[in-house]
Amino acid sequence: MYITVHGTAALVIARAVPNPFLAFVLALVSHFILDFIPHGDEHLIQKHFTRGQTLRRLVGVAMLDGLIMVGFLALWLWVGPAVPRGAVAASLTGSLLPDVLQGLYLVTEWKWLKPFQRFHLGLHNASGHPLTWHQGMLVQCMVLTALWLLVI
Ligand SMILES: [Zn+2]
Repeated sequence: MYITVHGTAALVIARAVPNPFLAFVLALVSHFILDFIPHGDEHLIQKHFTRGQTLRRLVGVAMLDGLIMVGFLALWLWVGPAVPRGAVAASLTGSLLPDVLQGLYLVTEWKWLKPFQRFHLGLHNASGHPLTWHQGMLVQCMVLTALWLLVI
């Protein structure tokens, strides 16, 4: 899922769990649960793409997605409920860590990250229900909306 969705899940968790360590762990688990839901962004990485094509696509999407997430986060921190900042930081770290590690693997191709990369990408296809990009956007918008209703 897009990092805006993962980041919003992190806010839901931080609001419910003020303990930073627990918030981190739950947010990390939430990342994998959300990635298991068919969401259509599996098309960002294709086997026939060169490494450069994959990186350009992911960086472009991550920059736009990251800007949207930062905007939502700033808005929530400004007008949302009071939540311990330590829990928010820990939860955001846990929820975004898998995608950061994926990006690190794609840039460096460090072998020690390959098993994690295989696991992470495997989750995206584990349900066996691939969606088109449009269907995936609809799913992600619905999940994002549901999470925002929980967080505000
Ligand atoms: Zn992911």
